[in-house]
Amino acid sequence: MTEDRGVYLRLLSDIRKAGAEFYKAPDKYLDSIIKLKTRQSEVLAGLAVSAKESGSADTTTLDKIISELAMLAQRMTVKNDIKPVSVDELPGIGKKATESLKKQHIETVEDVLYNFPYRYEYIGESRSGKKALTGIFQTGAVVTTKNRKRIYKAVFSGDFGQFAAVWFRFSAGYPAGVLKEGKKYTIYGQSGSFSGMESIIHPQFMKESEMGNIIPVYSLPKSVAQKVYYTAVNAALDKYLDQIPDHLPARLEEKYKFPSSKQALLEIHRPKNPYELEALSEKRHPAAKRFIYEELFYLQMGLLYKKRAYERQSGTVFDIKKEYLDWIKDLLPFKFTGAQRRVMAEIFNDMSSTGQMNRLVQGDVGSGKTIVAFTAGLVAVKNGYQVAVIAPTEVLARQHMLNLLKLISGTNVTAVLLTGSVSGAEKKHTKELIAAGHVDFVLGTHAVIQEDADFAKLGLAIIDEQHRFGVEQRKSLIEKGYMPDILLMTATPIPRTLALSFYGDLDISIIDELPPGRTPINTVSEKNIERVYPLMREEIKKGHGVYVIYPLIDTSEKLDLKAATDEHRKLSQEFGADNVGLLHGRMKHEQKSELMDAFKAGNIQVLVSTTVIEVGVDVPHATVMVIENAERFGLSQLHQLRGRVGRSDRQSYCVLVASENVSDEASERINAMCAHADGFKLSEIDLEMRGPGDFFGTRQSGLPEFRFSNIVRDVRILQDARSDAADILSDDQDLSSPKNTVIKQVLIRKWRSELQYIEIG
Ligand code: ADP
Ligand code: MG
Repeated sequence: MTEDRGVYLRLLSDIRKAGAEFYKAPDKYLDSIIKLKTRQSEVLAGLAVSAKESGSADTTTLDKIISELAMLAQRMTVKNDIKPVSVDELPGIGKKATESLKKQHIETVEDVLYNFPYRYEYIGESRSGKKALTGIFQTGAVVTTKNRKRIYKAVFSGDFGQFAAVWFRFSAGYPAGVLKEGKKYTIYGQSGSFSGMESIIHPQFMKESEMGNIIPVYSLPKSVAQKVYYTAVNAALDKYLDQIPDHLPARLEEKYKFPSSKQALLEIHRPKNPYELEALSEKRHPAAKRFIYEELFYLQMGLLYKKRAYERQSGTVFDIKKEYLDWIKDLLPFKFTGAQRRVMAEIFNDMSSTGQMNRLVQGDVGSGKTIVAFTAGLVAVKNGYQVAVIAPTEVLARQHMLNLLKLISGTNVTAVLLTGSVSGAEKKHTKELIAAGHVDFVLGTHAVIQEDADFAKLGLAIIDEQHRFGVEQRKSLIEKGYMPDILLMTATPIPRTLALSFYGDLDISIIDELPPGRTPINTVSEKNIERVYPLMREEIKKGHGVYVIYPLIDTSEKLDLKAATDEHRKLSQEFGADNVGLLHGRMKHEQKSELMDAFKAGNIQVLVSTTVIEVGVDVPHATVMVIENAERFGLSQLHQLRGRVGRSDRQSYCVLVASENVSDEASERINAMCAHADGFKLSEIDLEMRGPGDFFGTRQSGLPEFRFSNIVRDVRILQDARSDAADILSDDQDLSSPKNTVIKQVLIRKWRSELQYIEIG
């Protein structure tokens, strides 16, 4: 995996060097991405294929590729504690086993040591009713039970009386053929009672010496037997355990009474005490917690180290004058909500301090993040600085422009749009204005702002991100020599525990209140879109807008899903060709914005689209969101899509169309959507349903890979780890004290690529 990351890093740096060239002639890079055969590159390759398919106009996909690469390159790995030795060096592991283990990411001896059993088998009495009995075999026979079942029953005499063994499945040879009268046997298995006699059902025959043994059970490929693998594990323990280092300083081990790494590995692979097995398999045992803590500690250490580094870099110091705020209040047609005011206070606090602001504003769709960010922007402008507003797509950049222009009309504040579709001559002029400091706000997609804008005096960058684009943009701004305060906005609400891991290097503000006067959206599910036609017709009659979303642009032979282009034809027949538009990601920017404008103006009332419409599009008179094949969308995507309606005081509707035979999970998602309007609540449900690894979907997953921890289960440990890491850094910000040497070494190794990037600043 370490090597994989190298590949991503190299590609990323090539693309960065190429700069605008990448956007003009991406094919060369796309080809090398498609050729990548690393474990995590499937999604990336998929993006590359679709970028090639749609031609170079598709900067959105190209941007996604860059951010995906950055995320993959960023993954934290904890490999190579010891010199890599291949698993096939271990006894019993041949070529075939090596190959199948590799598929399960077990490639080296170290992987073997860190691959923990998921449960244990105890050969002896256990709470689950398993038992071992020893006795002399007396007689055996096939008998018919009361329920007319034929069983084989063997009777033994033990020290404490007679007992039986019963088999429901038996043959002429087994077990009759193996049992010898008068011989002593130890049998082991589930205990029960048969015609009043203590019995063991389908027992295993054991050696007496095996009694009391604990056998770990690993999750393994089918072709590798537990017994064979366990022999290899034992060999690995005997030969390599000594080389396993301790990553935690002794004082932290003591604080939590953790065993050393070596001790912990022994306890995990060779537990001695049957009463600890449950705690071990449930990861409550100190030996298991040690590795969970260690993993989360270094994650938090890395994030906080970065956070402190940002704070130490000098950003811009803004003067937050009351007169500025009064002036802004007069520009607004409404009053700020309490949550907006609280968040603005947090932002202003950062802006007025010397350190560089790195703040993320989280809030549900429509909670009013944009206006908060613009207010911060206006304060920066009043201080004589320029503001960059960076959006993930051109559609959004344009929309921000429209909103901003409304806000600043009648003032002397100026704003320009800098996107891929701004033409050559105009672009040249715009760039000159920016470089001369003659414009206050520059809005655009990040590709273009990165590449084309030279600011005279950039003080604040507002980054509207879909998920986690911020890292890349921040870096490119810094590389150009700017050190603006940075304000990130995201409309993907993330549960708190996850935010600590995902955005732990940022300060987080949450707008948890919607502006007043919104009518809750009525969300329902339907089996067939035709049943939604009456509602659509009624809303169209009222002059309202309707979105109809499909999972695909074109029909595909491989997927049995509805596609926007086909359904657009059908809906055109139903609602009139003049009134139905089709918008998708493969269209040119001009076409897209023309369509959006027509929809906004009410010239077309039904907009058929794919998820390109997902982010931030604001058409207040749109009141119906119909999502076909709703089972195919994730919860956060559904919630984002729903957020496109309900943006005024008019009653809005969201209809999730899905056939009856969808998976249980899909119907759980649809039910959750119908029951909850709150994005944070939905994100918690989502996290619970999918687990942290999958939470962002494969595509957007920038989370480091967790080997031992589960940030839902291990919240307490996560919080301990974060507060320990914070204490250590407050006490020794460079980790230069000898007592922190271990921490520094491990940190640098685990976060190498990330720390490099801090040093750029
Ligand atoms: P977000 O960016 O969080 O999705 P926006 O900033 O686009 O939300 O706000 C959604 C809509 O609500 C916009 O039309 C905006 O003008 C309006 N709005 C924002 N704040 C308020 C408020 N405090 N009171 C009334 N309307 C508001
Ligand atoms: Mg917005």
